[in-house]
Amino acid sequence: MAKQTKYIFVVGGVMSGVGKGVTTSSIGKILQSRGLNVTAFKIDPYINVDAGTMNPTEHGEVFVLKDGYETDQDMGNYERFLNIELDRGNYMTTGSVYRTVIERERNLEYNGKCVEVVPHIPLEVISRIKQAAHKSAADVAIIEIGGTVGEYQNILFLEAVRMMKIESPEDVITVIVSYIPTPSTVGEMKTKPTQYAVRALNSTGIQPDIIVARAERPLDEKRKEKIAVFCSVRKEDVISAPDVESIYDVPLNFEKDHLSDILLKKLSLKAKKQNGTLKEWEKAVKRIHSATHKVHIGIVGKYFKTGDFVLSDAYISVIEALKHAGCAVGVKVVLDWIDSTDFEKDKKKLLRLKKYDGILIPGGFGSRGVEGKIRAVRFCRENNIPYFGLCYGMQLAVIEYARNVLGLTEALTTEIDQKTVHPVVDIMPEQKENLRQKNYGATMRLGHYEAKILPNTIARIAYGKDSVLERHRHRYEVNPAYVKDLEKAGLVFSATSPNGVLMEIAELPQAKHPFFLGTQFHPEFQSSLLHPHPLFVAFVKAASERKNRIES
Ligand code: GLN
Repeated sequence: MAKQTKYIFVVGGVMSGVGKGVTTSSIGKILQSRGLNVTAFKIDPYINVDAGTMNPTEHGEVFVLKDGYETDQDMGNYERFLNIELDRGNYMTTGSVYRTVIERERNLEYNGKCVEVVPHIPLEVISRIKQAAHKSAADVAIIEIGGTVGEYQNILFLEAVRMMKIESPEDVITVIVSYIPTPSTVGEMKTKPTQYAVRALNSTGIQPDIIVARAERPLDEKRKEKIAVFCSVRKEDVISAPDVESIYDVPLNFEKDHLSDILLKKLSLKAKKQNGTLKEWEKAVKRIHSATHKVHIGIVGKYFKTGDFVLSDAYISVIEALKHAGCAVGVKVVLDWIDSTDFEKDKKKLLRLKKYDGILIPGGFGSRGVEGKIRAVRFCRENNIPYFGLCYGMQLAVIEYARNVLGLTEALTTEIDQKTVHPVVDIMPEQKENLRQKNYGATMRLGHYEAKILPNTIARIAYGKDSVLERHRHRYEVNPAYVKDLEKAGLVFSATSPNGVLMEIAELPQAKHPFFLGTQFHPEFQSSLLHPHPLFVAFVKAASERKNRIES
């Protein structure tokens, strides 16, 4: 008999942004540590078919899976915590579900029936969840439902949970991650919003099995009791989830409240002994907390501000990859967000970059802030400041080199000016056709591709191998027509596609610059706490060495 997968649904209460994704990932982690095979799944309530067309300032980072699917940033959390690679079957949006159902209807696959929102939409949701669980042979599938309970958008997904629970009550449980505010005027933790959230969940026919109580501080016994009584759960099933210094603390905190034992019991799974996974994790977390040597990294970009707030969500994988590298090197990475348009208004502001131990320019699109970024690259190159460019950050570094070393002062990417005299970065022919047809969704060069690495380069030394698979998301490429001249001028293309046509990494020899490297791909998507990405480690090491040099 095929094994019965168990399903844990994670929903949110009171408000968004309190850490459902980290909760989902952490539940996975503690179950993995009990020897279980775990997979994770994200449901987004948007009409967008995937996350690829969403603006990162509104929705946060677009996380690219190895198969090229453009998904939500939470998928990145799952991969980073669980060290598993997910695929397109592990992500869905309302738009993608409706699209499938409508296409099926058009193909007469419903045998002339009236196709209805209920049950056909939830049935499609259920079938996708089961397929993904089956494909990964998971003992436990954890499914995070985007949004918060009580809103209209995710109601059909909650209906799917209710239907699954009716079908096999012993295999399905629901966790609500809810917020317990401590209003400064009252000075006391208030549980009422959570009570309302649970009531809203009840009204969809679902009673939560576990309440994860997110709050500034750990919950006291009194609050636990109150939540238990008013929300009809046992006191033990109210899990305290206080604010943490590092998200990687969360699985360890959950175990303080014995969450893996509780989950195993509720799902009638055999409790296996802790298998050491969490020990290794705990060691890494200790390293994060004990690092005192600060390394200051400036991230130069444009998607930083929404109103008065800096929106770092747009670069979450980059931030995490830097933290992983910091943990590996034994330093505390301190980040600063630098708006590149500042350098366009006032060149003198570039001098500020001197105080950083390293500068990183992440991926990006369009023309705003680009000249400022190119100036920042030049400043780093000429002042020996470690520089790491990701995707656009690599393309702009190549443009900077073409302009200021090769002497092609008008070098540019055709993304900004189609008629530029020196299209050092140019669109790929098949991409031109996509743009002409306004065919924007899921049409970039996406997902993992192989890159071959040259010997005796920073890249080769960092990776310790000559071939890697890395994830991509771009339409433009270094123009092969300029490669020879750039090389003659001293730039090293240390990795290319296997046929040698596409440039994957550009760098300067270490004799010329301590660390100047850019990748056409996004290494940040493959970094995790226990497996930090080698290029991020090399960059943070270089930054830390600069700091030591300056201090000594
Ligand atoms: N805009 C560039 C391109 O499409 C870079 C994309 C990116 O940084 N992800 O090629």
